[in-house]
Amino acid sequence: APGKGGTTPEKEAAEWRSESVEKRLEHALVKGITEFVDLDVEEARQKLGKPLNVIEGPLMAGMNVVGDLFGAGKMFLPQVVKSARVMKRAVAVLQPYLEAEKQAGAKSSAARIVMATVKGDVHDIGKNIVGVVLACNNYEVTDLGVMVSAEKILKAARELNADMIGLSGLITPSLDEMTHMAREMQREGFTVPLLIGGATTSKAHTALKIAPHYGQPVVHVVDASRAVGVVSHLLSSNSREKFVADNALEQGKLREQFARKDRKPLLSIEQARRRRFDPTSTMSEHSEPTFIGVKNIDSIALRDLVEFIDWTPFFAAWELHGHYPEILDDPVVGEQARKLHSEAQTMLNRLVQADATARARIHRTGSYTRSNVPAGTLQARAVYGHFAANSAGDDIELYADESQRSILGTLHTLRQQMDKTDGGRKPAGDKTALAQANLALADFVLPKTGKMVDYVGAFAVSVHGARELATTYKAAGDDFNAIMVEALSDRLAEASAEKMHKQARDNMGFGLIEYLKHQEVIDEKYRGIRPAPGYPACPDHTEKALIWQLLNVETNTGATLTENYAMQPGSAVSGWYFAHPQARYFGVGRIGRDQLTDYAQRKGWTVAEAERWLAPNLED
Ligand code: SAH
Repeated sequence: APGKGGTTPEKEAAEWRSESVEKRLEHALVKGITEFVDLDVEEARQKLGKPLNVIEGPLMAGMNVVGDLFGAGKMFLPQVVKSARVMKRAVAVLQPYLEAEKQAGAKSSAARIVMATVKGDVHDIGKNIVGVVLACNNYEVTDLGVMVSAEKILKAARELNADMIGLSGLITPSLDEMTHMAREMQREGFTVPLLIGGATTSKAHTALKIAPHYGQPVVHVVDASRAVGVVSHLLSSNSREKFVADNALEQGKLREQFARKDRKPLLSIEQARRRRFDPTSTMSEHSEPTFIGVKNIDSIALRDLVEFIDWTPFFAAWELHGHYPEILDDPVVGEQARKLHSEAQTMLNRLVQADATARARIHRTGSYTRSNVPAGTLQARAVYGHFAANSAGDDIELYADESQRSILGTLHTLRQQMDKTDGGRKPAGDKTALAQANLALADFVLPKTGKMVDYVGAFAVSVHGARELATTYKAAGDDFNAIMVEALSDRLAEASAEKMHKQARDNMGFGLIEYLKHQEVIDEKYRGIRPAPGYPACPDHTEKALIWQLLNVETNTGATLTENYAMQPGSAVSGWYFAHPQARYFGVGRIGRDQLTDYAQRKGWTVAEAERWLAPNLED
């Protein structure tokens, strides 16, 4: 029954309860209502005789309605994930009967899909969402989890006789791993399509770097809402051929475009260095930290993180796009955004409360142990430090103290090589020295040659316990809250980064005179930046190793790095603090062979190693 035309919610609720059991199941699936599932499924089972008839009859019909509405943009991801919860509940009710009839394995699925996050990467949430959405559409999804080697994925695909393989990844080194997977699939004679997804993947990368290595369809899947369409086309005897041909045609075009693209020539690294930003131009604002060295924060009260949460990316994780808080009034997604926001508050309150209770207990017993996160809670941990530092060329030397004698480590930075002048003229818009400079992060630190010592900070924050908690929800058939916990855990990690940054700015003195509104903090309208290795200003992920060493991160917080420098747990942020008043985020962009070999030398790498780690900056 539609919700318009004089019906009250109560009346409407009563109305749908009086419909046929098939209609009631459909309604429950579309609306995500679990309340009556047990009753209705049992009634349907008695009516239809066999448990399998319930699944293949009303439940599948209901899920098809969900799939159609989602495909048509009339339902949104959070609703679909809630429908999945209803479906799981229904199947759980039928499970004992299926087993009694030994039909457990007989549930016919449209196809089998093996999914995994590639080796060295821990990205999970997007893949989980895609998994739920596909499972909703009667695809049998086997999720192999995170950090899965090509060998393991292919073995599972063979054993399960998979119809398709889906790969996911978050960090740039995973792009290489996906190419490796494509090669292995070719070598081992696989014939099933390969799906590519995850934050750093793109249509172009898939076309240029992955598809050419595998003689079967390789499809980039932008988001969960596209996944079902792609999979169903690939499996349909009617539309597969055209879909595959279109995909190949588009990828061919992208490769051609890339080959023809006339790229502005890069500056040589020497030229770029001559056009660096000079940090001494604003010497008067030089600041010193209250201490030098490392501070470990056992755990941050989740309560103190709430005000630092940036909600916009939370909605993006659920594929509701728009800026918070305006998104709550959006004509299209507003209603769902408000609902999701209120559900997020409920879960967040639960997490904050559980954390507070655990902290009170720790307070009484006086023993904080970071080895065990109390069950059902998340724990935010942080370690950070301030170091005396000076730039030496494009590197930054970090010292044990102001005497500059003992070097604790060297931070290597990359420099922009794009020509920022327009045919020799200065850029028209922003005329500041900063906008015209070919930046490297080293430019925001006073040079060693100037004899005046400067300071750089480092931080690593992580939220522990989310995977465990999500697994509990998942085991109970509640993917919605499993994903909710992971999404909130990511938010709390970013909030920890924001909060620790505030602390670091206060330590530096200039933070004490900040007077910013909440939104201004979220928009980072303060002095200083906290660039994170793997992001555009410092794309080399391997520099995280230096943060781990300087701050003793593993011992202090328990967070670790994978072989490809992804952080574990996945809800984590690490980076550097730059205090220079002019410091800002930028993108290094494409770099030349000259800088590549120079950088390799500074890092003690072979050129091949540098090519591997900097691959995304070598092309355009
Ligand atoms: N407030 C956002 C921040 C997302 S970006 C959120 O809550 O999701 C994540 C982190 O990347 C930032 O905290 C910052 O440490 C870093 N970062 C952002 N832009 C960057 C750039 N251009 N180069 C390097 N690091 C960057």
